Amino acid sequence: MFRIAVGGFCSRLPCLLLRTRGLSATAAIPVPNQEPDILYNKLFINNEWHDAVSKRTFPTINPATGEIICQVAEGDKADVDKAVKAARQAFELGSPWRRMDASHRGVLMNRLADLMERDRMHLATLETLDNGKPYTVAYAVDLDLTIKCLRYYAGWADKCHGKTIPIDGDYFCYTRHEPVGVCGQIIPWNFPLLMQAWKLGPALATGNVVVMKVAEQTPLSALHVASLIKEAGFPPGVVNIIPGMGPTAGAAISSHMLVDKVAFTGSTEVGMLIQQAAGSSNLKKVTLELGGKSPNIILSDADMELAVEQSHFALFFNQGQCCCAGSRTFVQEDIYREFVDRSIERAKQRVVGNPFDFKTEQGPQVDEEQFKKILGYISAGKKEGAQLLHGGGVAADRGYFIQPTVFGDVKDDMTIASEEIFGPVMSILKFKSIEEVIKRANNSIYGLAAAVFTKDLDKANYIANGVRAGTVWINCYDVLGAQAPFGGYKSSGSGRELGEYGLEAYTEVKTVTTKVFQKNS
Ligand code: NAD
Ligand code: MG
Repeated sequence: MFRIAVGGFCSRLPCLLLRTRGLSATAAIPVPNQEPDILYNKLFINNEWHDAVSKRTFPTINPATGEIICQVAEGDKADVDKAVKAARQAFELGSPWRRMDASHRGVLMNRLADLMERDRMHLATLETLDNGKPYTVAYAVDLDLTIKCLRYYAGWADKCHGKTIPIDGDYFCYTRHEPVGVCGQIIPWNFPLLMQAWKLGPALATGNVVVMKVAEQTPLSALHVASLIKEAGFPPGVVNIIPGMGPTAGAAISSHMLVDKVAFTGSTEVGMLIQQAAGSSNLKKVTLELGGKSPNIILSDADMELAVEQSHFALFFNQGQCCCAGSRTFVQEDIYREFVDRSIERAKQRVVGNPFDFKTEQGPQVDEEQFKKILGYISAGKKEGAQLLHGGGVAADRGYFIQPTVFGDVKDDMTIASEEIFGPVMSILKFKSIEEVIKRANNSIYGLAAAVFTKDLDKANYIANGVRAGTVWINCYDVLGAQAPFGGYKSSGSGRELGEYGLEAYTEVKTVTTKVFQKNS
């Protein structure tokens, strides 16, 4: 057991860590085995492990070294068909899942959360190995939020009820909230376990069945969770998990005639393909969590230390691979110089290295494709005239490590200020007035999140109302709880996940009207 003082932790890791973890005086994070046994690498269909119909496999890579961890079964259309069939069968009227008490669904979900708690170190280890995120973060942040999300939705299982409605005439009218049916869920690699829980939580609480495609970069933790789903006692076919590629397995889900709903998190580009596939197949319901270019606005009266630390966290957390990253840091002109200098200092201190090292703040990017793409954006920043103030290069001689990078004097029309970089590259822009910054903040195809730092709550509220984004943080960043909805305006997506709002996408509302016969009629 490695004991780490939270005080020391706090200055390094985000405050988020402290607040959401319940890690009080000292936090105990066990030292993991960095070469764990990989127990599950096949497709999970009907509570059984299957090879792909094609017998094909693909390698999953450790991004810290570039080496292959293991081969994983590569699901394709034929496997998605099998999984959808299993899911439909599990959803048959009168099946164990359909007959199960709603409260018991909650019991199973809580049991799953308990098992994840039991296997927390192993799950965090798989996450670090496959994704590259620091183990301390995987253990303390990702696992914490994942388990809490499942428990939160477990609580909803028997509380999702309809209304009685006083329509005109002699009728008794009520609504039932029923499951949508077979939910296709396609998730990304940046928070593999957390994205799995965001999708499974509301789907299972409301009695749906699931066919999930996990990201090809990070299949391992989700497959371990599949084994726990079986151990928790979910009936066969309720959850099916298919590792595989997007254009094959993913597309098979979004265009499937027997899938009732698709939920996707990933790039805006693929989100558009999913919506099109849904429209040209069976008009399945679609929810999308997509990209962002979120403005983080620092007013001149902000608490400087807080603003610098939180802006650093807003951009660099998770190697910069967050859909809601504060990737346009707008700073008011009279504090611009000081803010930039302090941000460079903070970036210089950032510890990049082996993600299993407890001191590491930043691990590698998830794969070579992302690594190259980010280096391409850094070149574009330099070419287009932004001022490279720190970093800008590769941070290690193997693996996909990139130096924490800070650009100043960034202009709105530069590529680094308009496109999602998804890497550790901070772009700092200068502004004069509040009206101006609201306009510039909204000048984006995206609208996922925004933040403002100021001591003046009137200004904060004015900006919070003016920015077109699904989430606004005031004097904080990346504060995400299972209780509060999350999702995007504009091309950042459609629908909301989490909280009570997150249940809507997983329920059909049925109106039932009964004639009430009167004594004298
Ligand atoms: P992606 O959108 O291609 O992948 C996300 C998921 O969609 C994966 O499971 C993938 O296999 C699947 N997918 C890909 N093509 C598909 C298709 N045609 N039909 C169905 N599913 C498909 O993202 P990426 O290529 O891994 O990353 C590219 C960029 O996307 C990143 O640089 C980043 O900007 C963005 N991204 C955003 C998020 C987010 O949380 N919003 C997550 C990952 C990536
Ligand atoms: Mg892709």
